[in-house]
Amino acid sequence: MKKYGLPILIFAVFEAVAVTLWLTKDNIFYLFNFSYIGFSVALGVFLIFGKHRHARRIVQLLVGLYMLVYLGLICRENMQIEGFWYYLFTGVFEAATIHYAVAKIFGPLLFGRGWCGYACWTAMVLDFLPYKTPEKPRKKIGWIRYVTFAASLIFVAALFLSKVGNIERIMFWSFIIGNVLYYGVGIASAFIFKDNRAFCKYFCPVTVFLKPASYFSLVRIKCDESKCVKCGKCAKVCPMEVDVTDNSRKRKNGTECILCMECVKNCPKDAL
Ligand code: SF4
Ligand code: SF4
Ligand code: SF4
Repeated sequence: MKKYGLPILIFAVFEAVAVTLWLTKDNIFYLFNFSYIGFSVALGVFLIFGKHRHARRIVQLLVGLYMLVYLGLICRENMQIEGFWYYLFTGVFEAATIHYAVAKIFGPLLFGRGWCGYACWTAMVLDFLPYKTPEKPRKKIGWIRYVTFAASLIFVAALFLSKVGNIERIMFWSFIIGNVLYYGVGIASAFIFKDNRAFCKYFCPVTVFLKPASYFSLVRIKCDESKCVKCGKCAKVCPMEVDVTDNSRKRKNGTECILCMECVKNCPKDAL
């Protein structure tokens, strides 16, 4: 029942958002957009319950390519953090502002960093690289994310303050250049740190929103201590170095969990 019930529930929640936004904003795009994303996520959950090996990667590609190619390149919506600042400054609650509110600011209170595990188009590419789990200890350079976060805010604020013309066109090109930069830094750092997710751990500005909200996440992996034999398998397969055997919210790297389910799949005692 769970195999069908949860995907149907997820699809229904997305449909409710789709219909509400369609009717309140009188724009049929929202019906299409949230129905498509809801269908993709529901399909992914259905495949996960069916123990399909590539379930997460299928959702990543379905959602990530849609956002990058269709929304970003064809519809010319800047869905990166600069796009969020841009729409926020113009006072328009649509596109990137809705995306950030749902996926990255309020959504993580419910589903943690599910965005990072199943939908991000940057990680969609990084996860193809060879270092699925880190081969070197984590570096203490996470502060870089605050620099990139501030840089994105200063960039958009400067555009507004200097009153440049054709800002829409600049935002489109900043989306292209921003993505090239993200992919470049992401791929280079994966090889330097021998860790596919090095970009997520050290550089990504979006984590400034994601980490505090996901601390309170309703959905999180928990360990049944009566079943756990402390074999350490979960730690070995975790791409984000989360101590998932500790059930407290303060567990090591707890706000880094991307809900990829690798620990759950590999636990020999079904303790997770
Ligand atoms: S941390 Fe940033 S780059 Fe990594 S998956 Fe999350 S949003 Fe994408
Ligand atoms: S893999 Fe399972 S049994 Fe082993 S330490 Fe982790 S939770 Fe415990
Ligand atoms: S392996 Fe487990 S603890 Fe690590 S990121 Fe994936 S779901 Fe989270």
